[in-house]
Amino acid sequence: MRYPVDLVIRNGTVVTAARSFTADVAVSGGSIAVVDTDLSSLAATAHDVVDASGLLVLPGCIDVHTHTRVASDDEPDRFFQDSVAAAFGGTTSFLAFNNPGTGSSAKAHRSILAGIHEFRRATASDSAIDFGLSPAILGGMVDPLGELAAMVDAGVPTAKAFMVFDFRLADRTIFEAMRTLGQRGGMLEVHCEDPVLIDAAVASALQRGNTAPRYHASTRSTGAEAVATHRAVAFARAADAPVHVVHLSCAEALRYVAEAKATGVRAHAETCPHYLTLTEERYDEPDPLTCARSLISPPLRSAADRDSLWDGLASGALDLVATDHVADRLAVEKAGAAQGVPFDKISNGAPGIETLLATVFDGGVARGRITVERMVDLLATTPARLFGFDRKGAIEVGRDADIVLFDPEARRTIRASELHHTSDYTPYEGLEVGGAVRSVFVRGTAVIRDGAFVGQRGFGKFVERGTAGA
Ligand code: MN
Ligand code: MN
Repeated sequence: MRYPVDLVIRNGTVVTAARSFTADVAVSGGSIAVVDTDLSSLAATAHDVVDASGLLVLPGCIDVHTHTRVASDDEPDRFFQDSVAAAFGGTTSFLAFNNPGTGSSAKAHRSILAGIHEFRRATASDSAIDFGLSPAILGGMVDPLGELAAMVDAGVPTAKAFMVFDFRLADRTIFEAMRTLGQRGGMLEVHCEDPVLIDAAVASALQRGNTAPRYHASTRSTGAEAVATHRAVAFARAADAPVHVVHLSCAEALRYVAEAKATGVRAHAETCPHYLTLTEERYDEPDPLTCARSLISPPLRSAADRDSLWDGLASGALDLVATDHVADRLAVEKAGAAQGVPFDKISNGAPGIETLLATVFDGGVARGRITVERMVDLLATTPARLFGFDRKGAIEVGRDADIVLFDPEARRTIRASELHHTSDYTPYEGLEVGGAVRSVFVRGTAVIRDGAFVGQRGFGKFVERGTAGA
Protein backbone atom coordinates (compact mmCIF):
# COMPACT_ATOMS: atom_id res chain seq x y z
CA MET A 1 0.00 0.00 0.00
CA ARG A 2 1.19 3.53 -0.74
CA TYR A 3 0.96 6.16 2.00
CA PRO A 4 -0.99 8.29 2.34
CA VAL A 5 -3.88 6.35 0.85
CA ASP A 6 -6.00 8.01 -1.82
CA LEU A 7 -9.45 7.53 -0.35
CA VAL A 8 -11.14 6.24 2.78
CA ILE A 9 -14.88 5.53 2.75
CA ARG A 10 -16.03 5.61 6.37
CA ASN A 11 -18.90 4.16 8.41
CA GLY A 12 -20.85 2.56 5.58
CA THR A 13 -22.42 -0.88 5.46
CA VAL A 14 -20.17 -2.98 3.24
CA VAL A 15 -22.12 -5.62 1.34
CA THR A 16 -20.52 -8.70 -0.17
CA ALA A 17 -22.16 -11.77 -1.70
CA ALA A 18 -21.79 -13.46 1.70
CA ARG A 19 -22.52 -10.84 4.35
CA SER A 20 -23.07 -7.18 5.34
CA PHE A 21 -21.05 -5.38 8.00
CA THR A 22 -20.12 -1.89 9.11
CA ALA A 23 -16.60 -1.02 7.99
CA ASP A 24 -14.24 1.54 6.53
CA VAL A 25 -12.73 0.95 3.09
CA ALA A 26 -9.31 2.36 2.13
CA VAL A 27 -8.32 2.73 -1.51
CA SER A 28 -4.77 3.00 -2.80
CA GLY A 29 -3.57 3.08 -6.40
CA GLY A 30 -7.07 2.32 -7.67
CA SER A 31 -7.43 -0.88 -5.64
CA ILE A 32 -9.10 -1.73 -2.37
CA ALA A 33 -6.25 -1.72 0.17
CA VAL A 34 -7.92 -2.31 3.54
CA VAL A 35 -11.41 -3.17 4.77
CA ASP A 36 -11.62 -2.82 8.53
CA THR A 37 -13.79 -1.53 11.35
CA ASP A 38 -11.89 1.67 12.10
CA LEU A 39 -9.46 3.26 9.65
CA SER A 40 -9.35 6.67 11.34
CA SER A 41 -5.55 6.75 11.31
CA LEU A 42 -5.44 6.14 7.55
CA ALA A 43 -8.27 8.65 7.10
CA ALA A 44 -6.28 11.33 8.92
CA THR A 45 -3.72 11.50 6.09
CA ALA A 46 -5.83 10.29 3.15
CA HIS A 47 -6.26 12.55 0.14
CA ASP A 48 -10.01 12.14 0.32
CA VAL A 49 -12.43 10.91 2.97
CA VAL A 50 -16.08 10.16 2.28
CA ASP A 51 -18.64 9.65 5.03
CA ALA A 52 -20.93 6.78 4.08
CA SER A 53 -23.00 6.73 7.28
CA GLY A 54 -26.43 5.29 6.51
CA LEU A 55 -25.30 4.15 3.05
CA LEU A 56 -24.61 0.74 1.56
CA VAL A 57 -21.10 0.27 0.15
CA LEU A 58 -21.65 -1.97 -2.86
CA PRO A 59 -19.32 -3.27 -5.53
CA GLY A 60 -20.22 -1.49 -8.79
CA CYS A 61 -22.63 -3.35 -11.02
CA ILE A 62 -21.19 -5.20 -14.02
CA ASP A 63 -23.70 -5.12 -16.86
CA VAL A 64 -22.66 -7.95 -19.18
CA HIS A 65 -25.36 -7.35 -21.80
CA THR A 66 -25.54 -4.02 -23.61
CA HIS A 67 -25.86 -2.96 -27.23
CA THR A 68 -24.26 0.43 -26.69
CA ARG A 69 -23.45 2.11 -30.00
CA VAL A 70 -19.96 3.33 -30.80
CA ALA A 71 -19.51 6.97 -31.80
CA SER A 72 -20.47 7.92 -35.34
CA ASP A 73 -20.01 11.14 -37.33
CA ASP A 74 -23.66 12.01 -36.76
CA GLU A 75 -23.72 10.96 -33.12
CA PRO A 76 -20.18 11.39 -31.75
CA ASP A 77 -21.26 11.32 -28.10
CA ARG A 78 -23.52 8.29 -27.95
CA PHE A 79 -21.06 5.72 -26.54
CA PHE A 80 -19.74 8.19 -23.99
CA GLN A 81 -23.22 9.33 -23.01
CA ASP A 82 -24.49 5.79 -22.39
CA SER A 83 -21.39 5.11 -20.27
CA VAL A 84 -22.27 8.18 -18.19
CA ALA A 85 -25.84 6.90 -17.88
CA ALA A 86 -24.53 3.54 -16.67
CA ALA A 87 -22.45 5.31 -14.02
CA PHE A 88 -25.46 7.29 -12.78
CA GLY A 89 -27.22 3.97 -12.31
CA GLY A 90 -24.42 2.40 -10.27
CA THR A 91 -22.73 0.41 -13.04
CA THR A 92 -18.92 0.59 -13.14
CA SER A 93 -18.22 -1.87 -15.99
CA PHE A 94 -20.23 -3.00 -18.97
CA LEU A 95 -19.86 -5.36 -21.88
CA ALA A 96 -20.97 -4.25 -25.34
CA PHE A 97 -21.97 -6.41 -28.28
CA ASN A 98 -20.95 -5.26 -31.75
CA ASN A 99 -23.87 -6.78 -33.67
CA PRO A 100 -25.25 -4.91 -36.71
CA GLY A 101 -26.93 -1.67 -35.59
CA THR A 102 -24.31 -0.78 -32.98
CA GLY A 103 -22.09 1.15 -35.40
CA SER A 104 -19.93 -1.79 -36.44
CA SER A 105 -18.78 -1.94 -40.08
CA ALA A 106 -19.28 -4.58 -42.77
CA LYS A 107 -15.70 -5.64 -42.12
CA ALA A 108 -16.53 -6.38 -38.48
CA HIS A 109 -19.45 -8.47 -39.67
CA ARG A 110 -17.09 -10.75 -41.59
CA SER A 111 -14.34 -11.22 -38.97
CA ILE A 112 -14.40 -11.41 -35.18
CA LEU A 113 -10.83 -10.14 -34.88
CA ALA A 114 -11.42 -7.25 -37.25
CA GLY A 115 -14.45 -6.41 -35.11
CA ILE A 116 -12.42 -6.39 -31.90
CA HIS A 117 -9.78 -4.18 -33.47
CA GLU A 118 -12.38 -1.77 -34.81
CA PHE A 119 -14.27 -1.63 -31.50
CA ARG A 120 -11.14 -0.94 -29.49
CA ARG A 121 -10.11 1.84 -31.84
CA ALA A 122 -13.58 3.40 -31.82
CA THR A 123 -13.87 3.36 -28.01
CA ALA A 124 -10.25 3.90 -26.94
CA SER A 125 -10.83 7.23 -25.20
CA ASP A 126 -14.58 7.44 -25.05
CA SER A 127 -16.00 5.80 -21.92
CA ALA A 128 -16.45 7.21 -18.42
CA ILE A 129 -16.36 3.71 -16.87
CA ASP A 130 -14.59 0.44 -17.61
CA PHE A 131 -15.93 -1.74 -20.36
CA GLY A 132 -15.25 -4.66 -22.65
CA LEU A 133 -16.53 -6.36 -25.76
CA SER A 134 -18.42 -9.59 -26.36
CA PRO A 135 -18.33 -9.91 -30.13
CA ALA A 136 -21.38 -11.15 -31.98
CA ILE A 137 -20.58 -14.25 -34.04
CA LEU A 138 -22.60 -13.65 -37.17
CA GLY A 139 -23.83 -16.06 -39.82
CA GLY A 140 -22.06 -14.16 -42.60
CA MET A 141 -18.57 -14.39 -41.10
CA VAL A 142 -15.81 -16.00 -43.15
CA ASP A 143 -14.12 -18.24 -40.55
CA PRO A 144 -15.42 -17.44 -37.07
CA LEU A 145 -14.43 -20.80 -35.56
CA GLY A 146 -10.83 -20.28 -36.71
CA GLU A 147 -10.71 -16.93 -34.91
CA LEU A 148 -11.96 -18.01 -31.48
CA ALA A 149 -8.61 -18.97 -29.97
CA ALA A 150 -7.04 -15.62 -30.88
CA MET A 151 -10.17 -13.89 -29.61
CA VAL A 152 -9.81 -15.45 -26.15
CA ASP A 153 -6.09 -14.70 -26.14
CA ALA A 154 -6.90 -11.04 -26.84
CA GLY A 155 -8.73 -10.81 -23.50
CA VAL A 156 -12.14 -11.39 -25.06
CA PRO A 157 -13.30 -14.76 -23.70
CA THR A 158 -17.03 -14.43 -24.44
CA ALA A 159 -19.03 -14.02 -27.63
CA LYS A 160 -22.71 -14.16 -28.52
CA ALA A 161 -24.42 -16.31 -31.10
CA PHE A 162 -28.00 -15.76 -32.25
CA MET A 163 -30.38 -18.58 -33.17
CA VAL A 164 -32.68 -16.05 -34.85
CA PHE A 165 -32.51 -12.83 -36.95
CA ASP A 166 -30.82 -12.29 -40.34
CA PHE A 167 -27.38 -12.87 -38.85
CA ARG A 168 -28.31 -16.12 -37.09
CA LEU A 169 -25.73 -18.83 -36.74
CA ALA A 170 -26.38 -22.42 -37.84
CA ASP A 171 -26.83 -24.89 -34.97
CA ARG A 172 -23.78 -26.85 -36.02
CA THR A 173 -21.62 -23.71 -35.80
CA ILE A 174 -23.11 -22.81 -32.42
CA PHE A 175 -22.16 -26.27 -31.15
CA GLU A 176 -18.61 -26.05 -32.53
CA ALA A 177 -18.13 -22.51 -31.19
CA MET A 178 -19.26 -23.62 -27.75
CA ARG A 179 -16.81 -26.54 -27.77
CA THR A 180 -13.87 -24.52 -29.09
CA LEU A 181 -14.43 -21.72 -26.59
CA GLY A 182 -14.81 -24.19 -23.74
CA GLN A 183 -11.46 -25.77 -24.55
CA ARG A 184 -9.81 -22.35 -24.47
CA GLY A 185 -11.31 -20.96 -21.26
CA GLY A 186 -14.02 -19.03 -23.05
CA MET A 187 -17.81 -19.21 -23.02
CA LEU A 188 -20.44 -18.87 -25.70
CA GLU A 189 -23.51 -16.76 -25.00
CA VAL A 190 -26.62 -17.83 -26.88
CA HIS A 191 -29.77 -15.96 -27.83
CA CYS A 192 -32.22 -18.85 -27.50
CA GLU A 193 -35.31 -18.65 -29.66
CA ASP A 194 -36.19 -21.39 -32.13
CA PRO A 195 -35.86 -20.01 -35.68
CA VAL A 196 -38.24 -22.51 -37.33
CA LEU A 197 -41.08 -21.90 -34.90
CA ILE A 198 -40.63 -18.14 -34.86
CA ASP A 199 -40.24 -17.72 -38.62
CA ALA A 200 -43.40 -19.77 -39.14
CA ALA A 201 -45.38 -17.78 -36.58
CA VAL A 202 -44.21 -14.45 -38.01
CA ALA A 203 -45.01 -15.47 -41.60
CA SER A 204 -48.45 -16.65 -40.59
CA ALA A 205 -49.24 -13.47 -38.66
CA LEU A 206 -48.13 -11.25 -41.54
CA GLN A 207 -50.16 -13.32 -43.99
CA ARG A 208 -53.28 -12.74 -41.89
CA GLY A 209 -52.57 -9.01 -41.90
CA ASN A 210 -51.60 -8.97 -38.24
CA THR A 211 -48.78 -6.47 -38.61
CA ALA A 212 -49.17 -4.29 -35.49
CA PRO A 213 -46.37 -4.30 -32.88
CA ARG A 214 -48.40 -6.46 -30.48
CA TYR A 215 -48.00 -9.41 -32.88
CA HIS A 216 -44.26 -9.29 -32.32
CA ALA A 217 -45.00 -10.70 -28.88
CA SER A 218 -47.61 -13.27 -29.89
CA THR A 219 -45.25 -14.74 -32.53
CA ARG A 220 -42.41 -15.34 -30.05
CA SER A 221 -43.81 -17.96 -27.70
CA THR A 222 -42.37 -19.25 -24.45
CA GLY A 223 -42.35 -22.65 -26.15
CA ALA A 224 -40.06 -21.37 -28.90
CA GLU A 225 -37.70 -19.95 -26.29
CA ALA A 226 -37.83 -23.12 -24.19
CA VAL A 227 -37.03 -25.56 -26.99
CA ALA A 228 -34.09 -23.39 -28.05
CA THR A 229 -32.85 -23.14 -24.47
CA HIS A 230 -33.14 -26.90 -24.12
CA ARG A 231 -31.02 -27.30 -27.26
CA ALA A 232 -28.36 -24.85 -26.05
CA VAL A 233 -27.87 -26.64 -22.73
CA ALA A 234 -27.88 -30.00 -24.52
CA PHE A 235 -25.06 -28.68 -26.71
CA ALA A 236 -23.14 -27.58 -23.61
CA ARG A 237 -23.54 -31.02 -22.08
CA ALA A 238 -22.31 -32.79 -25.21
CA ALA A 239 -19.45 -30.31 -25.75
CA ASP A 240 -18.43 -30.40 -22.08
CA ALA A 241 -18.33 -26.61 -22.30
CA PRO A 242 -19.95 -23.76 -20.41
CA VAL A 243 -22.85 -21.87 -21.97
CA HIS A 244 -24.49 -18.61 -21.00
CA VAL A 245 -28.16 -18.25 -21.90
CA VAL A 246 -28.84 -14.56 -22.37
CA HIS A 247 -32.07 -12.74 -21.52
CA LEU A 248 -34.02 -15.75 -20.27
CA SER A 249 -37.64 -14.63 -19.92
CA CYS A 250 -39.92 -17.48 -18.84
CA ALA A 251 -40.45 -20.43 -16.49
CA GLU A 252 -40.56 -22.94 -19.33
CA ALA A 253 -37.00 -22.08 -20.42
CA LEU A 254 -35.75 -21.72 -16.87
CA ARG A 255 -36.73 -25.32 -16.15
CA TYR A 256 -34.19 -26.58 -18.70
CA VAL A 257 -31.39 -24.47 -17.26
CA ALA A 258 -32.17 -25.65 -13.73
CA GLU A 259 -32.26 -29.30 -14.86
CA ALA A 260 -28.94 -28.92 -16.68
CA LYS A 261 -27.29 -27.33 -13.65
CA ALA A 262 -28.62 -30.10 -11.40
CA THR A 263 -26.96 -32.69 -13.61
CA GLY A 264 -23.58 -30.99 -13.70
CA VAL A 265 -23.77 -29.00 -16.94
CA ARG A 266 -22.05 -25.63 -16.76
CA ALA A 267 -25.29 -23.95 -17.83
CA HIS A 268 -25.49 -20.32 -16.79
CA ALA A 269 -28.31 -17.90 -17.41
CA GLU A 270 -29.23 -14.28 -17.00
CA THR A 271 -32.55 -12.52 -16.95
CA CYS A 272 -33.22 -8.81 -17.42
CA PRO A 273 -34.93 -6.07 -15.41
CA HIS A 274 -37.81 -5.78 -17.88
CA TYR A 275 -38.82 -9.43 -17.39
CA LEU A 276 -38.62 -8.91 -13.63
CA THR A 277 -40.62 -5.68 -13.61
CA LEU A 278 -43.06 -5.60 -16.54
CA THR A 279 -45.51 -8.07 -18.06
CA GLU A 280 -47.18 -8.83 -21.39
CA GLU A 281 -50.07 -6.51 -20.41
CA ARG A 282 -47.94 -3.85 -22.07
CA TYR A 283 -48.96 -5.32 -25.43
CA ASP A 284 -52.65 -4.65 -24.71
CA GLU A 285 -51.83 -1.01 -25.32
CA PRO A 286 -53.80 0.03 -28.46
CA ASP A 287 -51.39 2.75 -29.61
CA PRO A 288 -48.78 1.03 -31.81
CA LEU A 289 -45.92 3.40 -30.94
CA THR A 290 -46.53 3.00 -27.22
CA CYS A 291 -46.68 -0.75 -27.72
CA ALA A 292 -43.36 -0.62 -29.63
CA ARG A 293 -41.65 0.63 -26.48
CA SER A 294 -41.77 -3.00 -25.36
CA LEU A 295 -40.92 -4.53 -28.74
CA ILE A 296 -38.03 -6.68 -27.53
CA SER A 297 -36.88 -10.27 -28.04
CA PRO A 298 -37.86 -12.35 -26.19
CA PRO A 299 -41.01 -10.33 -25.45
CA LEU A 300 -42.44 -9.54 -22.03
CA ARG A 301 -44.18 -12.52 -20.44
CA SER A 302 -46.90 -13.30 -17.87
CA ALA A 303 -46.92 -12.32 -14.20
CA ALA A 304 -46.40 -16.01 -13.35
CA ASP A 305 -43.24 -16.06 -15.48
CA ARG A 306 -42.04 -12.88 -13.79
CA ASP A 307 -42.52 -14.46 -10.37
CA SER A 308 -40.70 -17.64 -11.37
CA LEU A 309 -37.71 -15.55 -12.54
CA TRP A 310 -37.48 -13.92 -9.11
CA ASP A 311 -37.64 -17.39 -7.56
CA GLY A 312 -34.86 -18.48 -9.93
CA LEU A 313 -32.68 -15.56 -8.87
CA ALA A 314 -33.22 -16.42 -5.22
CA SER A 315 -32.58 -20.16 -5.65
CA GLY A 316 -29.54 -19.91 -7.93
CA ALA A 317 -31.21 -21.35 -11.03
CA LEU A 318 -30.49 -17.94 -12.57
CA ASP A 319 -26.97 -16.54 -12.21
CA LEU A 320 -27.19 -12.84 -12.85
CA VAL A 321 -29.20 -9.89 -14.14
CA ALA A 322 -28.08 -7.80 -17.12
CA THR A 323 -29.92 -5.12 -19.03
CA ASP A 324 -29.97 -5.98 -22.76
CA HIS A 325 -29.74 -2.20 -23.18
CA VAL A 326 -30.62 -0.93 -26.64
CA ALA A 327 -30.80 2.84 -26.87
CA ASP A 328 -33.65 2.83 -29.39
CA ARG A 329 -35.64 6.02 -29.68
CA LEU A 330 -39.38 6.37 -30.25
CA ALA A 331 -38.58 9.26 -32.59
CA VAL A 332 -36.06 7.30 -34.68
CA GLU A 333 -35.70 3.50 -34.51
CA LYS A 334 -39.25 2.84 -33.30
CA ALA A 335 -40.94 5.59 -35.35
CA GLY A 336 -42.20 3.25 -38.05
CA ALA A 337 -44.64 1.73 -35.58
CA ALA A 338 -46.76 4.88 -35.77
CA GLN A 339 -46.83 4.70 -39.58
CA GLY A 340 -48.00 1.13 -39.94
CA VAL A 341 -44.61 -0.47 -40.57
CA PRO A 342 -45.04 -4.21 -39.85
CA PHE A 343 -43.68 -5.45 -36.53
CA ASP A 344 -40.96 -7.58 -38.11
CA LYS A 345 -39.39 -4.43 -39.62
CA ILE A 346 -39.22 -2.46 -36.36
CA SER A 347 -36.03 -2.37 -34.32
CA ASN A 348 -35.94 -4.75 -31.35
CA GLY A 349 -34.82 -3.47 -27.98
CA ALA A 350 -35.39 -1.09 -25.12
CA PRO A 351 -33.10 1.09 -22.99
CA GLY A 352 -32.03 -0.04 -19.52
CA ILE A 353 -28.37 0.75 -18.89
CA GLU A 354 -29.20 3.29 -16.18
CA THR A 355 -31.95 1.39 -14.32
CA LEU A 356 -30.34 -1.98 -13.48
CA LEU A 357 -29.60 -1.43 -9.80
CA ALA A 358 -32.77 0.63 -9.27
CA THR A 359 -35.09 -2.08 -10.59
CA VAL A 360 -33.33 -5.03 -8.96
CA PHE A 361 -32.98 -3.33 -5.58
CA ASP A 362 -36.59 -2.18 -5.57
CA GLY A 363 -38.22 -5.25 -7.08
CA GLY A 364 -35.93 -7.67 -5.28
CA VAL A 365 -34.46 -6.40 -2.04
CA ALA A 366 -37.05 -3.80 -1.01
CA ARG A 367 -39.88 -6.26 -1.70
CA GLY A 368 -38.16 -9.12 0.13
CA ARG A 369 -37.72 -11.39 -2.90
CA ILE A 370 -33.90 -11.55 -2.56
CA THR A 371 -31.41 -10.45 0.07
CA VAL A 372 -29.08 -7.51 -0.47
CA GLU A 373 -26.16 -9.96 -0.44
CA ARG A 374 -27.78 -11.99 -3.20
CA MET A 375 -28.30 -8.77 -5.16
CA VAL A 376 -24.58 -8.01 -4.94
CA ASP A 377 -23.83 -11.53 -6.13
CA LEU A 378 -26.25 -11.20 -9.08
CA LEU A 379 -25.14 -7.74 -10.20
CA ALA A 380 -21.40 -7.80 -9.49
CA THR A 381 -19.70 -10.87 -8.03
CA THR A 382 -21.09 -13.55 -10.33
CA PRO A 383 -20.92 -11.46 -13.52
CA ALA A 384 -17.25 -10.76 -12.70
CA ARG A 385 -16.47 -14.44 -12.18
CA LEU A 386 -18.44 -15.80 -15.15
CA PHE A 387 -17.17 -13.17 -17.58
CA GLY A 388 -13.52 -13.06 -16.51
CA PHE A 389 -13.40 -9.64 -14.84
CA ASP A 390 -10.74 -10.99 -12.48
CA ARG A 391 -10.09 -7.74 -10.61
CA LYS A 392 -13.70 -6.66 -10.22
CA GLY A 393 -16.99 -7.60 -8.61
CA ALA A 394 -16.41 -7.45 -4.84
CA ILE A 395 -15.47 -5.14 -1.98
CA GLU A 396 -12.37 -7.16 -1.21
CA VAL A 397 -8.69 -6.31 -0.68
CA GLY A 398 -6.76 -6.36 -3.96
CA ARG A 399 -9.77 -5.82 -6.22
CA ASP A 400 -10.37 -2.68 -8.24
CA ALA A 401 -12.03 -0.02 -6.12
CA ASP A 402 -15.24 0.01 -8.18
CA ILE A 403 -17.64 1.15 -5.48
CA VAL A 404 -21.20 2.45 -5.27
CA LEU A 405 -22.53 4.35 -2.28
CA PHE A 406 -26.25 3.61 -2.20
CA ASP A 407 -28.98 5.08 0.00
CA PRO A 408 -31.46 2.27 0.67
CA GLU A 409 -33.94 4.61 2.39
CA ALA A 410 -34.34 7.11 -0.45
CA ARG A 411 -37.34 7.00 -2.75
CA ARG A 412 -37.47 8.24 -6.30
CA THR A 413 -39.64 8.08 -9.39
CA ILE A 414 -38.01 6.98 -12.64
CA ARG A 415 -38.55 9.55 -15.40
CA ALA A 416 -36.97 9.55 -18.85
CA SER A 417 -36.48 13.30 -18.48
CA GLU A 418 -34.15 12.67 -15.53
CA LEU A 419 -32.15 9.83 -17.08
CA HIS A 420 -28.93 10.31 -19.05
CA HIS A 421 -29.01 7.57 -21.67
CA THR A 422 -29.22 8.24 -25.41
CA SER A 423 -32.74 6.85 -25.74
CA ASP A 424 -35.77 9.16 -25.57
CA TYR A 425 -37.83 6.96 -23.24
CA THR A 426 -37.65 4.42 -20.44
CA PRO A 427 -39.87 1.35 -20.06
CA TYR A 428 -40.08 2.27 -16.35
CA GLU A 429 -41.60 5.75 -16.75
CA GLY A 430 -43.38 6.69 -13.53
CA LEU A 431 -42.15 3.69 -11.56
CA GLU A 432 -41.53 4.63 -7.97
CA VAL A 433 -38.51 2.81 -6.57
CA GLY A 434 -36.78 2.54 -3.24
CA GLY A 435 -33.08 3.36 -3.06
CA ALA A 436 -30.83 5.85 -4.84
CA VAL A 437 -27.23 5.95 -6.03
CA ARG A 438 -25.27 8.72 -4.29
CA SER A 439 -21.65 8.28 -5.42
CA VAL A 440 -19.78 5.98 -7.78
CA PHE A 441 -16.05 5.28 -7.92
CA VAL A 442 -14.20 3.48 -10.69
CA ARG A 443 -10.74 2.27 -9.67
CA GLY A 444 -10.98 4.66 -6.74
CA THR A 445 -11.74 7.74 -8.82
CA ALA A 446 -15.11 9.44 -8.38
CA VAL A 447 -17.31 9.33 -11.46
CA ILE A 448 -20.56 10.29 -9.70
CA ARG A 449 -20.33 12.35 -6.53
CA ASP A 450 -23.46 13.14 -4.51
CA GLY A 451 -25.61 12.56 -7.56
CA ALA A 452 -23.57 14.67 -10.01
CA PHE A 453 -21.30 13.49 -12.83
CA VAL A 454 -17.68 14.34 -12.02
CA GLY A 455 -15.99 11.79 -14.29
CA GLN A 456 -14.00 12.13 -17.45
CA ARG A 457 -14.48 10.97 -20.99
CA GLY A 458 -11.83 8.35 -21.70
CA PHE A 459 -11.15 7.49 -18.07
CA GLY A 460 -12.83 4.12 -18.59
CA LYS A 461 -10.50 1.40 -19.79
CA PHE A 462 -11.05 -1.55 -22.07
CA VAL A 463 -10.79 -4.56 -19.75
CA GLU A 464 -8.85 -7.51 -21.07
CA ARG A 465 -10.59 -10.37 -19.33
CA GLY A 466 -9.43 -13.76 -18.06
CA THR A 467 -11.10 -17.17 -18.09
CA ALA A 468 -14.88 -17.18 -18.48
CA GLY A 469 -17.55 -19.68 -17.51
CA ALA A 470 -15.84 -21.00 -14.38
MN1 MN B 1 -30.48 -11.23 -27.92
MN1 MN C 1 -29.31 -8.38 -26.55
